[in-house]
Amino acid sequence: MSQFNYKNILTKFQSVNENVLFKNAKVLDPSENLNAILNIVIHNGKISEISSTPPSGFDGDVIDAQGCMLLPGFFDMHVHLREPGREDEETILTGSFAAANGGYTGVACMPNTEPAIDTQEVVNFIKEQATDSLVDIYPIGAITKGRNGEVLAPIAELVEAGAVAISDDGSPVMSAEIMRRALEYSKMFDIPVLGHEEDVNLSKNRHMHEGFYSTKLGIPGIPSLSEEILVARDIMLTEFTGGKFHVCHISTAGSVDLVRKAKAKGLKVTCEVTPHHFVLTDKQVESFDTSTKMNPPLRSQEDVGAIIEGLRDGTIDSIATDHAPHSIEEKESEFIDAPFGITGLESALGLIISELYGKNILTFEEIYKRCVVNPRKILNLSVPKVKKGEKANLTLFNPEKLWKFGDSQKYSKSVNSPFGDFELKGKSIVVLNNGKIFKSS
Ligand SMILES: [Zn+2]
Ligand SMILES: [Zn+2]
Repeated sequence: MSQFNYKNILTKFQSVNENVLFKNAKVLDPSENLNAILNIVIHNGKISEISSTPPSGFDGDVIDAQGCMLLPGFFDMHVHLREPGREDEETILTGSFAAANGGYTGVACMPNTEPAIDTQEVVNFIKEQATDSLVDIYPIGAITKGRNGEVLAPIAELVEAGAVAISDDGSPVMSAEIMRRALEYSKMFDIPVLGHEEDVNLSKNRHMHEGFYSTKLGIPGIPSLSEEILVARDIMLTEFTGGKFHVCHISTAGSVDLVRKAKAKGLKVTCEVTPHHFVLTDKQVESFDTSTKMNPPLRSQEDVGAIIEGLRDGTIDSIATDHAPHSIEEKESEFIDAPFGITGLESALGLIISELYGKNILTFEEIYKRCVVNPRKILNLSVPKVKKGEKANLTLFNPEKLWKFGDSQKYSKSVNSPFGDFELKGKSIVVLNNGKIFKSS
């Protein structure tokens, strides 16, 4: 398995000094009514030409995009970049390379760093580390100071510094009073509260989904109810406050149903799902592989079925990775001692194309909504377009390319993933944003 190589990285994240031509790409941008084989010329980081025949006498970097799809850049609204605090597991630089290699041109990063993103200084630090990055990096501020669930963080200051949402992700907000205040404050700034929904009274010292396999394996299980009780509470608080609430990494049939009903009522409730929650089930834990341990845990086949239905009918707004790098030492422990979480940025697009497009669950137009438009809309960010004169922010992927995730070049500092043996169909080829280009190998 090839891994992070800093020297290799520096030569790959180049500025676009010359013109770039995406030749004969299948361009899809429903916002511009584009769905055709086109040639796109980028000049100084902007889209300068869109034509049905390749421009003659083109001088620059020609990318043969035959058979490939070109869309506005993909966005992942839920990643853990570990900096500041755990730079041994990931940094903003290595995480942004993992994002680019996976086909993402933008991410929002969670505040469970050390220190937490609960002051303007930490928001500013992250923005500084991300200067000159191809990948747009948006910090998410903490709901409570130190993410301890007790005292509200200075939300106005965090928003002023550039936080696009608030969340205590990694931990739930157990106090309904604090969650009420968070929804009231965030409403003043029109930002969403992103909820890690887990009643810790039901999940403490538990390590996998509670069901047939937890009984079979003798591992204490986390009931679906632990998530659903908080989803139900926070939907009620959203209705009461008129705030905006987003359910992170939805994992149970009951939660999907609660969100569907909240939407039908017209509440400002949205949700995301991770690839591992629509691909894997708790059966995978039989291997005792610690890379099948995440929070929320892999659920039952019935839950996966409900999630697929939620993706299909639009109840689930976005697909996010919950990219959670952990060191090998930590993940090489016994299952019950291992930390929760897996990497996701570099495997997500292959899983989305293989499992959702390949199995006729979502069309490319629907994938565009869930991976390009909705995550940005939820965070009040503008959605890039394939349009002459616009800044180029693009993802090129080959939907037919067969590859094995475990054999691929990776840029994350961590390797904890259950998808090593997966044969995938569909791979990111090139991303281009902020005047920079990244070509996956
Ligand atoms: Zn979480
Ligand atoms: Zn997370």
